[in-house]
Amino acid sequence: MTEQNGRDLQREKGEATRKRKWEMRQEKKRLLALKQQQEAEKKRREDEAFMREALRQAQKAAALGDVPIGCVIVFRGKIIARGYNRRNADKSVLSHAEIISIKKACKKIGDWRLEDCTMYVTLEPCPMCAGAIVQARIPRVVIGSRNPKAGCAGSVLDLFHEKGFNHQVELEDGVLQEDCTDMLEEFFRDLRCKKAADIGKA
Ligand SMILES: [Zn+2]
Repeated sequence: MTEQNGRDLQREKGEATRKRKWEMRQEKKRLLALKQQQEAEKKRREDEAFMREALRQAQKAAALGDVPIGCVIVFRGKIIARGYNRRNADKSVLSHAEIISIKKACKKIGDWRLEDCTMYVTLEPCPMCAGAIVQARIPRVVIGSRNPKAGCAGSVLDLFHEKGFNHQVELEDGVLQEDCTDMLEEFFRDLRCKKAADIGKA
């Protein structure tokens, strides 16, 4: 073997090693991205399952003639509190789905802090409920539809990411959004029809 041939062989070997290492890095990246995607999908499916229960709670409100908003609070993968809007039923502005759920969850856990809980609510919380969520130190809130007129998770105000507060809330937005929005729209459509019918009768 000539000296030149020897150097060529060495270079080829070096290139082959670099290529193999590069391919291994690419494969590692691909597998990591796949794992992250699978985890995100799993989380999404879990979120949707809990939101479906919040939607069932919202139906209870509608059955009483209250605006259909439902909420559940989850602790270590289990629902520990359920609530639905009862503002009209209770004749109280405090009877929002989130406040009712927070009260129940605190009773269950035996603490005013709900530090390891996730709240699922069909509609973006109002200022009162967003305030209670921050006060209860709930770390994560999942919402169905946005509330452009009163929402305080970013629509009118963003109380979840107010730097001046000592607690920030992670927000997951738009889970089962269509179902949550449809339920509200249907409720208000029926209400308008009922009102029109009442006026017709008068
Ligand atoms: Zn509220």
